[in-house]
Amino acid sequence: MNNHVTVLEIDANAVLHNLNYFKQKLQPETKILAVVKAFGYGSDGVEIAKIIQNEVAYFAVAYTDEGVALREAGIKNPILVLHPQKQNIPTIVSYRLEPNLYSFKIFEAFLEYADNVPLINYPIHLKFNTGLNRLGFWHTDVPNILSELKKSNNVKVQSIFSHLAASEDLNEQEFTVNQINNFAYIVKQMYEHLGYEPMIHILNTSGVINYPKAQFDMVRIGIGLYGFGNDDQETAQLKNTHNLKSIISQIHLIQPGETVGYNRAFVASKPTKTATVPIGHADGISRKLGNKNGFVIINNQAAPIIGNVCMDMIMVDVTNIDCKEGDEVIIFNHQQQIEYIAHKCETIPYEILTALSQRIKRFVKS
Ligand SMILES: *Cc1c(COP(=O)(O)O)cnc(C)c1O
Repeated sequence: MNNHVTVLEIDANAVLHNLNYFKQKLQPETKILAVVKAFGYGSDGVEIAKIIQNEVAYFAVAYTDEGVALREAGIKNPILVLHPQKQNIPTIVSYRLEPNLYSFKIFEAFLEYADNVPLINYPIHLKFNTGLNRLGFWHTDVPNILSELKKSNNVKVQSIFSHLAASEDLNEQEFTVNQINNFAYIVKQMYEHLGYEPMIHILNTSGVINYPKAQFDMVRIGIGLYGFGNDDQETAQLKNTHNLKSIISQIHLIQPGETVGYNRAFVASKPTKTATVPIGHADGISRKLGNKNGFVIINNQAAPIIGNVCMDMIMVDVTNIDCKEGDEVIIFNHQQQIEYIAHKCETIPYEILTALSQRIKRFVKS
């Protein structure tokens, strides 16, 4: 028995199912990079990596520490660090993580470090900005990048990549196709002068769904692994990976006129049975879900959250539900519930998943 009552169960079979779903959309030679940043989209990046390490070519994380955690857990796959920072270069190298070099500042810092050690053919990745305007070299930087690379055998470009700004939005198809074409042109120039041909990649999950012709050598799948496509049809083919559960800590019977929670936000208009559940806004349950905007499932019935969400607890209305203290509470175990919560919180499933705090115990169900 788990002694923590609120748990996030990670469904290993669902993760594998989702990975295979995307695999069958790919050309046989297209590699998969699994994005496990932000604790595997709020689950457990190390556990996700262990589940799929033999099924994918690469992993990606946002920050160096996340890559270190994977290495310390024994993950051997190459790991791309999407947002390395200069002060982390020694750590990146000592854990054999592969930096995304996206500007001359970080590129030159890395080359200088590589020259000092010295490193030979250390794997690096170059990212080009083709319209997201977040991280990346500009196409006009190509000649200078090439001349820096020619001076050095300390590094070897493992891949050249870019990131789409609106791959999920078919109204932006023209913009996206333009990004892909501009990227292909940059790659062509790099290939012509580099003397070897690094892998290339531009698609994230919704890119794989909407722009299958742009698979190139590898695709970077994040949210798809965790059960979300870009529309209901696609999501219905995927399985939910994050199951968030708790139990009823206490039940109260209150009379008309009595109130529940801070600021007395819920006022009973009739005799009401309430259940207190040990999960709150410190766990990632938004206060926007209070006052009946959100609900949980108890014994297969929906119990609305009443009053304000507290830091560590919520109270739900179980007047019409046959239940007792200790009964299981499902916060979500289906993508539709996560989408509903995201909608109520005016955000997207990515934020709901990644907001689940580290206080919630994770375990893998296999
Ligand atoms: C997070 C991220 C991804 C994954 O995107 P999804 O939409 O979750 O598939 C891919 N590439 C980069 C550069 C990212 O930052």
